[in-house]
Amino acid sequence: ELEETPDREEDLKPRPPIITVMGHVDHGKTTLLDYIRNTRVAEKEAGGITQHIGASVVEVDTSEGRKTLVFLDTPGHEAFTAMRARGAQVTDIAVLVVAADDGVMPQTIEAINHAKAAGVPIIVAINKIDKPGANPERVKQELTQHGLIPEDWGGDTIMVPVSARTGEGVDELLEMIALQAELMELKANPDKPARGVVLEAKLDKKRGPVATLLVQTGTLKVGDAIVAGLYAGKVRAMFDDKGNSVKEAGPSMPVEVLGLDGVPLAGDKFYVVKDEKTARKIAEKRQELARESALEKEKRVSLEELFSQMQAGEVKELNVVLKADAQGSIEAIRKSLEELSTDEVKVRIIHAGVGPITENDVMLAAASNAIVIGFNVRPDSSARKAAEQEKIDVRTYRVIYDIIDEVKKAMQGLLAPEEKEVYLGSAEVRATFKVPKVGTVAGCYVKDGVIRRNAMARLVRDGVVVYDGKIASLKRFKDDVREVQAGYECGVGLENFNDIKVGDVIECYTIEKVERGA
Ligand code: GDP
Repeated sequence: ELEETPDREEDLKPRPPIITVMGHVDHGKTTLLDYIRNTRVAEKEAGGITQHIGASVVEVDTSEGRKTLVFLDTPGHEAFTAMRARGAQVTDIAVLVVAADDGVMPQTIEAINHAKAAGVPIIVAINKIDKPGANPERVKQELTQHGLIPEDWGGDTIMVPVSARTGEGVDELLEMIALQAELMELKANPDKPARGVVLEAKLDKKRGPVATLLVQTGTLKVGDAIVAGLYAGKVRAMFDDKGNSVKEAGPSMPVEVLGLDGVPLAGDKFYVVKDEKTARKIAEKRQELARESALEKEKRVSLEELFSQMQAGEVKELNVVLKADAQGSIEAIRKSLEELSTDEVKVRIIHAGVGPITENDVMLAAASNAIVIGFNVRPDSSARKAAEQEKIDVRTYRVIYDIIDEVKKAMQGLLAPEEKEVYLGSAEVRATFKVPKVGTVAGCYVKDGVIRRNAMARLVRDGVVVYDGKIASLKRFKDDVREVQAGYECGVGLENFNDIKVGDVIECYTIEKVERGA
């Protein structure tokens, strides 16, 4: 509906890089961003209150002159990948913060894999070097194991030791970011109607819908008619990240915009159209389409669908996010899956980790056209919701051979598995009782769905499957019952299993036959 005409080379002008800060929790992402904002923001607004509009514009003096950098205010790979899953890639450079006293941690590895899956270059900030226990060399060593080799060891990853608390090394870090951006020759055409992405939006009691837009190409001006996500409007007023009222914003610039008739979502695209009437018409059409597609229940990314895309030559790689109960299983599965790669189709594990399947894993899969495979682990409830919403294929297994077999069959163009698991509900174990001649009975609270006698059941402890079998007994108070709905308490006995603990989750499911050849 709104094709972008390609730019002529001579119309392209350099634009500032957009940077996301990532890393493990507590490694200093927020502190580093705050330090950069507080010391580098060129003209502070009167009163000195830093505005948070979703991104900050920072000026740096380098050996090649003054450069502008744009930092996204929401650190972490979660926001980064959620935007990508919505089809918006805004980040040019990822700054990976690793605390020198703590080293590489699980979310460090996640961040690396999320940035890699997006093809975004990584600059490492080895933080907290002011602390007595800091060991930057160990951090470098650990990062090497994840494919990031420091420049001073002959690799190509820039690693800068910093302290977000004292500010030591931050100048050098900023200079390195500017340098990296220079190498990337980021360009955009400023002389055309603007397009870009919604960074955040909210409903303000006094001002109505307020959206922070990041201009990616063109120049946004006060008075422009725009469409943002499902909404239309006319730019009534614009403010930069310092709270100054501005008349226009060029490529890479974030601005707070007033004048939309609704609140779009972060990651929605926006663009300028001819006039307000056109904007309204497009927004209405989009709302209609959104209502229709909300009714569609088909999976967006399933193993079978990916494979048919591969056969059609649309996809050359089968991307997999792999979660398992132990590092040993990961290595074994990774090896077997990668060995399935052929000349036409490559199996690529874009992220692997020990532990339950999380919302993050699902979002990474959504952003990277991947499936999620779990071995002896289960999705947590937010992951399950996300998978449903994003229509991502999450497959869990108890036997490594089954994983290999199913992926192999899909790759050979065979059909869906003959049996499909149907999730019924889950219950939380709140107490356990030893009953003579029966064994351990779990006093449960049904959290969602329904628990049914004689249905299949799994016992999940900290995201790991410790039992897979059958519900042998189900009671409400003293009575045997056939099923118990969400919101009620019940007593559950598992077939041939007594090692039930408080805090475990019982997941109830059935197996349904699926017709082949459909
Ligand atoms: P985030 O979770 O990655 O955003 O981490 P924060 O920025 O909230 O930092 C976590 C803790 O580490 C806070 O108590 C910070 O004050 C502290 N911290 C962050 N950077 C440094 C640093 O360079 N040196 C020291 N000593 N502490 C730091």
